[in-house]
Amino acid sequence: MGAKIHAQGARERAREAVREADRAEAKAWSVRMEGYGGPAQPSPTIGQCINGGLGWLEVECARCKTRASLPLDAIRRRADTPLWKLEASLKCRSCRSTRYAPPARMIKLTAVRQITPYKWVHPTEER
Ligand SMILES: [Zn+2]
Repeated sequence: MGAKIHAQGARERAREAVREADRAEAKAWSVRMEGYGGPAQPSPTIGQCINGGLGWLEVECARCKTRASLPLDAIRRRADTPLWKLEASLKCRSCRSTRYAPPARMIKLTAVRQITPYKWVHPTEER
């Protein structure tokens, strides 16, 4: 009985340690992107960002400079997908044409939504 409770406590502490590590990694990436403009690689995974409490990705259209905040938990990609792999599928709706879409730049990670996702094509709408 006591051993079982002890094991549960250890598991809980381990989960907390992983969460802290995920948060630190997501935060470091975010600071690098916002402060230095990259490089985007290597980047934490979608799952790490969500687990670390930074579940929103802010992006900016290279052409019109519109910014948007995308919820990572709504992106239908595997949780182990690194963030940089999402960049190619992020497109600004007002600038996108059938032949060409200007690239989007990943700005930073945030804990809460900061900008409405209006006008943006979500990666899940692709294909
Ligand atoms: Zn645009």
